[in-house]
Amino acid sequence: MENLDAIVVGAGPAGSAAAYSLAKNGLEVMLVERAKTPGEKNVSGGVLYGQVLHNLIPNYWEKAPLERRITTHRLSLLSNESAFTLDFSSGKRSPVPNDGYSINRYKFDQWFAEQAENAGALLAPGIRVDDLLWKKNRIIGVKAGTDEVQANVVIAADGVNSQLAAKAHMRKEHTSEQMGLGIKEVYKLPRKIIEERFNLIGNEGAAYHFIGCTKGHPGGGFLYTNQDTLSLGLVIFLPAFEVTKDTAPDLMEHYKSHAFIQRLIRDGELKEYSAHLVPEGGYSKITKLYTNGFLVTGDAAGLAFNIGYALEGMNFAIASGIAAAETVIAATKTGDFSKRSLKRYEQVLRDSFVLKDMKTFKRAHNLFNNPRLHSTYPKLVNTFAHDLFTSKAVPRQKLVQLLIRHVLGNVTIPSLIRDGLQVVRGL
Ligand SMILES: Cc1cc2nc3c(=O)[nH]c(=O)nc-3n(C[C@H](O)[C@H](O)[C@H](O)COP(=O)(O)OP(=O)(O)OC[C@H]3O[C@@H](n4cnc5c(N)ncnc54)[C@H](O)[C@@H]3O)c2cc1C
Repeated sequence: MENLDAIVVGAGPAGSAAAYSLAKNGLEVMLVERAKTPGEKNVSGGVLYGQVLHNLIPNYWEKAPLERRITTHRLSLLSNESAFTLDFSSGKRSPVPNDGYSINRYKFDQWFAEQAENAGALLAPGIRVDDLLWKKNRIIGVKAGTDEVQANVVIAADGVNSQLAAKAHMRKEHTSEQMGLGIKEVYKLPRKIIEERFNLIGNEGAAYHFIGCTKGHPGGGFLYTNQDTLSLGLVIFLPAFEVTKDTAPDLMEHYKSHAFIQRLIRDGELKEYSAHLVPEGGYSKITKLYTNGFLVTGDAAGLAFNIGYALEGMNFAIASGIAAAETVIAATKTGDFSKRSLKRYEQVLRDSFVLKDMKTFKRAHNLFNNPRLHSTYPKLVNTFAHDLFTSKAVPRQKLVQLLIRHVLGNVTIPSLIRDGLQVVRGL
C-alpha cells in the first residue's frame, strides 16, 4: 500500500475524532480497530460532555445515538443503612448541552467511526495492530500479522493499556497506583418506570454518584439513566485488590445490596456485565505525548480525570484526538514529521482544558486515596443527618455543637487538619 498521511490505531472517541478531523481536511488516513464493530470492546459509565464534539460536528446531538440529556446530578454519601445526598436539577437548557448525555458506547462508537468513514477515512475493523515499523529512530507505520502499512504519522488511540505507547518507549510499565478498575452492569427497565422513579420528563436524564459504597476501599459508584436501561457501576483504585480478598464481583454485590441502590434498580433485568481499566494516575502519570512520526492520545496517554463528582475521559479523548489531527495537518504542510514539529501537539493540549484541568486537580488523586473519605466521613455525615432530622424527645443541641460532637467522635484533630488540607489542595 502507498504511504498514507496518517494511521490512527483504535476507533474509540480519541481515534475517531482524530481520523474524522484528518479526513475532513483532505488527508489520507486509515482508522484501524481490533473489534469487528467499533465500540464492541469499549466501556464507559457513561456520560459524554460534548462541547468539544460540538466543535467538531456541530449540533452532534441531532444526529448521534444518545440516550438522555442529563438534567439531574446527585452526589450521595452512603453509610450502611442511609444516604446523605446533594441534589442539583436545572430547568435551564443552554443551547449547547454542556450538562452531558448518557450514551451507549456500542452505538456511539459505531456512529462516530462511521462519521470518520463518511468524511473519507479508510475504516479497517477487525484488525489488531501488533507492532510499529521503524526507520532508524522514526516510526513509519504499523504491523498487523504479516501486513505492514506505512504513513507519515501514527496516532496511538488504543486505550488505557496502550501497547503502542509501550512499544514506542513513551511510557514505563503501568503500576497499580495509576489505574482504577471500572465495573459496570446494565439493567433493563421500561422507559416509563425509569422516568417515574428518577422524576424525569421525556428525554431528561439523571447522573448519580456515590461515595462510601466500596467497603472502605478508595473508589466510588455511579448510576446513569439511559432510555430504557440503567448503567450501574463502580470504579475502584487498583491497589485495593492488593490488600483485600474482595473480588470485583464481591464489591459489586456489596454495592447493590445497599437499600438505597436496591430501590433504584429494583425489578431491573440484568443485561450486561463488563469491566475495564480506567487511567487514574492524573497529571504526574501522563505518558510522553510525541516522538518522531508518532503521537499518543486519550486513555493511551493517561488523559482522563476523576474528581469524585465527575469522571471524564471521553471528552478528553476527543479533544486530544482533534489536537493530534491539527498537529498532523500542520506538519503535512511543512513535510516535517520529526518530534520537533510534532511537539506542537503538547502545546495545544497545554492551552486547552485537557492539561489545564489535569494540572489544576493534580492533587485530587491523594485525596481520593484517603481511606477516611470512603468510610469515616460518609458514616459521620449520615449519623449527623440522622440526629438532625429526628426528634427523640430529649433536649436538642445547637447545630454547631451537634456537628462538633459528631466530628470529634469520629476523627482526631490532626487527621481532620490533614484531610482538610487535602480537600483544599486537591479540589
Ligand atoms: C466503568 C467506566 C466508566 C466510565 N465513565 C465515564 C463517563 O461517564 N464519562 C467519560 O467521559 N468517561 C468515562 N470513562 C472513561 C472513558 O471510557 C475513557 O476515558 C474513554 O473511553 C477513552 O477513549 P479512548 O478513545 O482514548 O480509548 P478507548 O475508548 O478505550 O478506545 C480504544 C480503542 O482502541 C482499540 N484498540 C486497542 N488496542 C488496539 C490494537 N492493538 N489494534 C487496533 N485497535 C486497538 C480498542 O478496541 C478501542 O476501540 C469511564 C470508563 C469506565 C471503564
